[in-house]
Amino acid sequence: MDYNSFFTRDYKSLMEQAPRRRLRWTGLHTLLLVSVMVTVSTVLIFVSADAEATRSAVPSPVANESPARRITIPLNFPALQADEETQPLTQPAATAPASTDDQAESALEADWRTVKVRRGDSLARIFRREGLAPTDLHRIVELGRITRTLRNLRPGQVFRFQVDADGRLLAMEYEINRLESLIVTRRDDGFEARAVQHTLESRLAYAAGEIHSSLFEAGKAAGLTDGLIMELVGIFGWDIDFAMDIRRGDSFSLLYEEQYLEGEKVKDGPIVAAEFTSQGRTYRAVRYTDARGRTDYYTPDGHSMRKAFLRTPVDFRRISSRFGRRHHPTLNRMKMHKGVDYAAKRGTPIKAAGDGRIVFRGRKGGYGRVIIIQHGGRYSTLYAHMSAFKKGLRVGSRVRQGQIIGFVGSSGRATGPHLHYEFRVNGVHRNPLTVKLPDAAPIRREYVQDFRLKTEGLLSQLDMHNRTRLALRQP
Ligand SMILES: [Zn+2]
Repeated sequence: MDYNSFFTRDYKSLMEQAPRRRLRWTGLHTLLLVSVMVTVSTVLIFVSADAEATRSAVPSPVANESPARRITIPLNFPALQADEETQPLTQPAATAPASTDDQAESALEADWRTVKVRRGDSLARIFRREGLAPTDLHRIVELGRITRTLRNLRPGQVFRFQVDADGRLLAMEYEINRLESLIVTRRDDGFEARAVQHTLESRLAYAAGEIHSSLFEAGKAAGLTDGLIMELVGIFGWDIDFAMDIRRGDSFSLLYEEQYLEGEKVKDGPIVAAEFTSQGRTYRAVRYTDARGRTDYYTPDGHSMRKAFLRTPVDFRRISSRFGRRHHPTLNRMKMHKGVDYAAKRGTPIKAAGDGRIVFRGRKGGYGRVIIIQHGGRYSTLYAHMSAFKKGLRVGSRVRQGQIIGFVGSSGRATGPHLHYEFRVNGVHRNPLTVKLPDAAPIRREYVQDFRLKTEGLLSQLDMHNRTRLALRQP
């Protein structure tokens, strides 16, 4: 068996899967299979009714405070001005370019044509089709960087052209996406372009559910999208193993933002506060953005929901092979080395790099005796060539950071005793020596007061909703 292929394959397929499949992979779907029936309890009906009532009523207290909340889509407009931010999508009267009385009159008569971009369209093609002057096209394109976005049209995008009675282009609106438009207007001396960004209005929504068959089913019943369910898993994934720990009767509740554009919901998220009760233990998390713009989830007392990693899982003598391409000593050919080799004496204890759960423990081809630990939703670590496993550990065992899991050896394809260590983020091999490890630092002292100020309200709102829900449950 190829040295790395076994694990690579699993992770690769995981990577390429949609969120829903990824959820299944975590084992939730096993629970689904085992479960007797999907029962949507009256609780959930109450919950959704409650959530419905909450949705429009609660203004988001974080609306103006978290910069990370604001949807930012890569902008090709270096010239975008802050004061151009909020502008309704269609406002023909306002965008009518009228610099002379004559023009103003013709603008009033002129109508707006809506054109959808077809497959293979370029602006030149659209201009031709619409009978617009190629010279105008040329002048618009020549406006510079701001109109560069016109080079990459995608099918389905919308153009609006305002044309006067003589078929002359007066204005053009290009809807890049729901949040951004480019508006080009005729002036006396040519054209003028400006970028317009439509800001989203965010509202707070509440949802809650109790798990009968799987988190996925319960989440759906509570009205959550796949994305929100995955977000929830991501937040609590360090404390709760969603593949193994979920039991019937576990419950969750959350406050999340819903983003609206002109009264229409365009997307969900982020989650701003959440609670998860698993096997009688309750975990709470709240989202906070500090003054530097760093956003993370914390426990109500300000500890990070994430758990840090040890940079090195073994006391080593030297690094005998680094991450990257190298000549493989035993295979005698160039190969990608997907981890780091730490030379150490046989029998040296190997420590779990972080809190997690063992997802593999056994022999596997060139790896020899190997353990893989899953940490939260995104990270996993692999420890190979062990001489022995620590007794009492099995697949499914929870390990703490620093806990001994095995001992250095040279099992499998190894030239001498060493630990081959791999670090994966979302299934992709990363260099353990340089990968940016999740920052698990608590709230910095200077932000503690601000943290309390901003998160207490969210947490008490969550509590209030939960109390109402429980009260409704009583017969
Ligand atoms: Zn190695």
